[in-house]
Amino acid sequence: TAALQLTAVTKTYKSGTSALKGIDLCVQPGDFFALLGPNGAGKSTSIGIVSSLVKKTSGRVSIFGHDLDTDTDEAKRHLGVVPQEFNFGQFEKVIDIVATQAGYYGIPAKRAYAQAEKYLEQLGLWEKRDQQARLLSGGMKRRLMVARALVHEPRLLILDEPTAGVDIELRRSMWDYLTRLNRQGTTIILTTHYLEEAESLCRNIAILDHGEVVENTDMRSLLAKL
Ligand code: ADP
Ligand code: ADP
Repeated sequence: TAALQLTAVTKTYKSGTSALKGIDLCVQPGDFFALLGPNGAGKSTSIGIVSSLVKKTSGRVSIFGHDLDTDTDEAKRHLGVVPQEFNFGQFEKVIDIVATQAGYYGIPAKRAYAQAEKYLEQLGLWEKRDQQARLLSGGMKRRLMVARALVHEPRLLILDEPTAGVDIELRRSMWDYLTRLNRQGTTIILTTHYLEEAESLCRNIAILDHGEVVENTDMRSLLAKL
């Protein structure tokens, strides 16, 4: 079974914008996959649909064989998502944000905090664990969101523009971290509008443009064509 399968997915926003015009995508377990495309192509909409934040107009989505509409809890259990935008509450502490997320998956508090500590440490946020999240730098917020997405140890991690607006040093360390995670078996999908990012990290790639998949191939073949 595919880690992620989209079948004929469409999205028309209330404004009338047809953001996805029937896309098919299949990402195999263990893959490191890039969804590339210019601004407005439909990348965030696709991720929004997979993470249940955006309601699709039609089509089907399944995660490790579990249909997102009919087998929702099981599908979500296998998925972690790092959104592009995030707002933290006034006084929310770093550790609580990660542990609370674990709670959503039914992980009991003690284990939730242990898991939260594990991922904050991996992402270099151990010393920040008792600070207010909204006071962290942009790069630290981004790493916090990665910890939050991983706390229930999903088999599929999806990141929306993981290095947009972050400095070169964090970009490198984020790339290294994701590469290690993928080697340990986590399937990773990221969106980006930088070909360079996709090139450095990903084995397979789909290019979206105006809500359609215009290319779906392995990185090497794509680069040979350019
Ligand atoms: P990308 O992530 O590739 O930049 P998006 O999925 O954000 O693309 O956007 C795809 C299209 O859908 C764009 O034309 C965008 O303006 C439109 N769009 C995105 N979100 C909304 C929304 N909430 N309401 C109406 N139109 C939207
Ligand atoms: P571009 O405009 O080329 O897509 P930007 O770096 O300007 O790239 O930002 C892309 C998106 O990422 C924007 O929607 C912005 O709000 C968001 N973003 C940028 N920096 C941060 C950050 N430090 N934390 C959270 N979101 C960010």
